[in-house]
Amino acid sequence: MPIGHYIYTSMGVTRRKFIRNTALTGAAVSLASNIMARPYQKRVDANGKLRVGIIGSGLRGQDHIDLLLRRKDCELTCIAEPDQVMLASTKKVFEGFEAKWPEIYDQGPHDYVRMLDKEKIDAVIIATPWEWHSQMAIAAMKAGVFTGVEVSGAFSLDECWELVNTHESTGTPLFFLENVCFRRDVMAVLNMVKKGLFGELIHLECGYEHDLRGVKFNDGVTPYNSGVEFGDKGFSEAKWRTWHSVYRNGDLYPTHGIGPVAQWININRGNRMETLVSMASKSRGLHEYIINHPKGGPDHPNAKLEFRLGDKVTTMVKCTNGETIVLHHDTSLARPYSLGFRVQGTKGLWMDINKKLYIEGTSPGHQWEDAATYLTQYDHDAWKAHEKDAEGAGHGGMDWFVTDAFVRCALEGTEPPFDAYDAASWMAITPLSEASIANGGMPQAIPDFTRGRWMKRI
Ligand code: NAD
Repeated sequence: MPIGHYIYTSMGVTRRKFIRNTALTGAAVSLASNIMARPYQKRVDANGKLRVGIIGSGLRGQDHIDLLLRRKDCELTCIAEPDQVMLASTKKVFEGFEAKWPEIYDQGPHDYVRMLDKEKIDAVIIATPWEWHSQMAIAAMKAGVFTGVEVSGAFSLDECWELVNTHESTGTPLFFLENVCFRRDVMAVLNMVKKGLFGELIHLECGYEHDLRGVKFNDGVTPYNSGVEFGDKGFSEAKWRTWHSVYRNGDLYPTHGIGPVAQWININRGNRMETLVSMASKSRGLHEYIINHPKGGPDHPNAKLEFRLGDKVTTMVKCTNGETIVLHHDTSLARPYSLGFRVQGTKGLWMDINKKLYIEGTSPGHQWEDAATYLTQYDHDAWKAHEKDAEGAGHGGMDWFVTDAFVRCALEGTEPPFDAYDAASWMAITPLSEASIANGGMPQAIPDFTRGRWMKRI
């Protein structure tokens, strides 16, 4: 059962009825059918299994592999991964399941093209550094392979359009693997939103607030966490991610936040994001971290780097239906992890930072209540049904749901819940926030990647 079912039909109604039944959506939506939804080919081999390939079997790719190897309805047949260290740890994952070691494509960074050309696969998961995502997703769609791509921001609007145009010209589905949409509280809050607990939604907040100063470093002695070294001396994300903080200034990682928000306020399905403004603070966190680190110091070569990324990037979006959204990007300062969600309507609000909510007429006057009781009461049916399946899966179990939705969508030939239009509009926040910051906070128009179809699409 794909997420379309999880999110919208597991309460016994179709997505369309579900939306029509709420008082919160625009008239256009309630009259509409999903004019872009189409049946896709069911992808299943002679044994009734989905043949899956992986591009990039680093740490995230290995999470996907672990979840795929647990399943009986798919077969992992090939991997494109040029790094022998990552291939060695991937092999251990296969050995843990006593699974057959697949065909390996390790002849450099473009060997994935040979894999797509040569292998008979039904679906592919792309879990590479950000700069590879779109070109790989485009190649996979052109090869007619059901395409799952990990999360990231884009580099340009052209890239976002190319994703949409390739999806439309090839008819190949793109599944944007935004796992946070499946977080248990996020789905319970979706349930509460659809039941009207917060009234009409007015303002939302979200973000990526994760101290990444100590990204992974491998000197053979301390395999994880230094952050002082990166690039060739780094390991996993430190090999590539830190370069973005050196050269770019914008909301580099918007989709863990905007993905859930998009579900709550029907972005691209009766609503859309129209404009944004972005501002960035000064940049101090990464530099201070390096000079104060025992493996760094003021004479370390990286202490001379100027990091462009502001320590705190704040973006504000205005939507067609009148809501405002604030996105926080905060990865270079000392802080605990948070995605900073806030869902506020005419009758109350929920915030995940303090794990509280307030509902007018129910909560004691002007006082916060613990959200936990509500989150249990409105726990989504999908979570109730699959709690055991999700046990032990990454990120509190939500990774099980995203893998399950991906596999089932491909097998059943149904519309991905987060598709090329969602990928394009969510990823576009990055280059638009960079442009806004570079221009003193100037508003930037967010393209309508659905070309007007958002009005009638549900
Ligand atoms: P990683 O560096 O551990 O893995 C990336 C892998 O891609 C590496 O093994 C690298 O060798 C490989 N690679 C690089 N270029 C390649 C190419 N041309 N062809 C094939 N393989 C190539 O990084 P990661 O932490 O696994 O992150 C990968 C992606 O997953 C990123 O987009 C990251 O943002 C995303 N991610 C998502 C979540 C989530 O919760 N959804 C969590 C972690 C990472």
